[in-house]
Amino acid sequence: MKIYDQIDSLQLALSSYRKQKKIGFVPTMGALHMGHLSLVRRALKENSCVVVSIFVNPTQFDNKTDLEKYPRTLAQDVSLLRTLKGTILIFSPEVSQLYPNKITSTQYHFGSIASQMEGKYRKGHFNGVGTIVRLLLKAVQPHTAYFGEKDFQQLQIIKKLVALEKLPVKISGCAIVREKSGLALSSRNSRLSQKQREEATLIFHTLTEVRKKFKTHSIAQLNQLVAERFLNSSLKLEYFEIANEITLRTAERKRKNNKYRAFIAAFAGSVRLIDNMPLN
Ligand code: AMP
Repeated sequence: MKIYDQIDSLQLALSSYRKQKKIGFVPTMGALHMGHLSLVRRALKENSCVVVSIFVNPTQFDNKTDLEKYPRTLAQDVSLLRTLKGTILIFSPEVSQLYPNKITSTQYHFGSIASQMEGKYRKGHFNGVGTIVRLLLKAVQPHTAYFGEKDFQQLQIIKKLVALEKLPVKISGCAIVREKSGLALSSRNSRLSQKQREEATLIFHTLTEVRKKFKTHSIAQLNQLVAERFLNSSLKLEYFEIANEITLRTAERKRKNNKYRAFIAAFAGSVRLIDNMPLN
């Protein structure tokens, strides 16, 4: 397994695969866990060679402390990837490789999907995500790129980016991987104390309760119920939304034949956690 920190050398290595073989791509910010590995496993199954990028992208952070505190564990990440069978190329560049001039985002017009939830609470986040994913896709030129439904809104943004920029790549969404407790795996979980880790399972339990009650309760009742659950907990709810799965617009009332998903962002201490679940 080789690690590349230059676009040129990565592209040279990929050129021998590109002719007859399929290249899969899994972009990550590192601090890898089983959620990331599930994406890599799926990519290995569907391609002959997989590029895993490990890059903490500065332009998608709206909070300097969050960027500084983001876990960086390259040696451990490499060991974890070594446990998988198949051809993996790791791309772990310095910031200056991807942002040679200025560390800045392209301004995209993703439309209403970008103005809800994460877009509302993390200013400039999706422009940063769009910028880095476009740069990485141009560098790797994969047949298929894999993204987790853990970041469901991000997955929709990437699909939109690919359509807007007419990028020749297929985007595949992968299911959320959870701990036994239900807590969605996240690199940020490593910053939780044992107590916070237990308390954070409230996010999964609330989403599950909402899914169970979705048929019998109105959206207003469910919003109220979730607010109460969090009021009585140590977690700070940033948002709870039941949204149309396609438009990601907040749903105020259920409409026939529409698909809905519930989304939560909450803080356990200073650690921001997100999760979501399909409701029907
Ligand atoms: P990140 O390193 O957090 O940027 O995540 C890299 C990719 O892994 C993204 O496409 C995430 O949606 C995905 N991912 C992160 N956590 C999980 C999880 N628990 N289950 C499935 N995919 C995940």
